[in-house]
Amino acid sequence: MLHEFSYVTHPSLDELLAFLAEHGDETRVFSGGTDLFVNIRAGLVSPRYVADLKTVADLHEIAFSEREGLSIGACTTVNELITNKTVRERYPVLRIAAEELATFQLRNRATVVGNVVTASPCGDMTSPLLCLGTDVVLVSARGERRVPLGEFITGVKTTQIAADEIVTRLIVGAGQIDAAGGYRKLKRIKGHDLGVVAVALIKTKGKARVAISSAAPTPVLLPEFAADALAAEIQESAQAAISPIDDVRCTSEYRRFMVDVYIRRLMEEVSA
Ligand SMILES: Cc1cc2nc3c(=O)[nH]c(=O)nc-3n(C[C@H](O)[C@H](O)[C@H](O)COP(=O)(O)OP(=O)(O)OC[C@H]3O[C@@H](n4cnc5c(N)ncnc54)[C@H](O)[C@@H]3O)c2cc1C
Repeated sequence: MLHEFSYVTHPSLDELLAFLAEHGDETRVFSGGTDLFVNIRAGLVSPRYVADLKTVADLHEIAFSEREGLSIGACTTVNELITNKTVRERYPVLRIAAEELATFQLRNRATVVGNVVTASPCGDMTSPLLCLGTDVVLVSARGERRVPLGEFITGVKTTQIAADEIVTRLIVGAGQIDAAGGYRKLKRIKGHDLGVVAVALIKTKGKARVAISSAAPTPVLLPEFAADALAAEIQESAQAAISPIDDVRCTSEYRRFMVDVYIRRLMEEVSA
C-alpha cells in the first residue's frame, strides 16, 4: 500500500518556494519520481505533500555558453541530456555515463538533478559531473546559493539541501569543455543494473581527472594527474582514497580490484 499524501503543483517557482517556506518539513519535491515513489512505497519516507517540479516554469532548460559552461535544469531528463547536441559534442563523458543509467524507458522519466540529489554512492551521474567540475544551484524563499557538487553530497544519500530549498540547476563549469572522457561500470548482470563500482575519467589540457563511485560513502574525486601519467600512479592514489565495503553485491576486495582495472583501461582508451 502506498502511504497517502497530497499531490501539489505550482505554476511558478515563487509559489513553490512560498509553499516550501511553510510546509518544507512535510513535503518532498520530485521530478521523475523514480527514486521518491520507490522510497515512499518502501516506507522509507512518508511526506504529507509531494510537490511536482514538472509543472513549474523555467526548470526544464539545458543551456550552454562558452563562458559559463553547461546549465542543466532540474527537470532535464537523462534522455534529454543524452540527445542534447552540445552535451554529445562538448561533454561526451556525460553522454557515455548517462547511457549506463537504467533503461531507456526509465531515462525518459529520471532526471539528472534527481540522481544527484538522491546522492546514492552508486548514482551514475555524480562521478562524471565531479570530473567536469560542477556546482549545484540551491534556491529558497531566503535566496540562492551555489555549492560545489563535492560539498553538496555529505554522506550516503544525504546532502546539504534544506527542507525549504530546491535545486534549480547544475552548472557544469567551462573549465573542462571538450574534454575526452570515458565511464566504466561494473554490474552483476550484462543488462541494466545499479553499479557495483564505477570509474569516470576525463582528459583535457594535458591533465587527467578521475572520480570513483560505489567505493566509499560518497563518490571520490582524485587529485589531478598529468594526462600521460602512469596508470600505476593513479591506481595508488585511488586505493588510498577509497574505502569500499563488503555487501551482498560484491566484496570490498573485488571492488578495489575493479577500480584498478578500470583506471588502466580508461587511461589506455581515452585520448586527450
Ligand atoms: C528500476 C530502476 C533502475 C534504476 N537504475 C539506476 C541506475 O542504473 N543508475 C542510477 O544512477 N540510478 C538508477 N535508478 C535510480 C533513479 O532512477 C535515478 O537516481 C534517477 O536519476 C532519479 O531521478 P528522478 O527525477 O526520478 O528523481 P526523483 O525520484 O524525482 O527524486 C529523487 C530525490 O531527489 C529529490 N529531488 C528531486 N529533484 C529535486 C530538486 N530539483 N530539488 C530538490 N530535491 C529534488 C526528491 O525529493 C527525492 O528525494 C534506478 C531506479 C529504478 C526504479
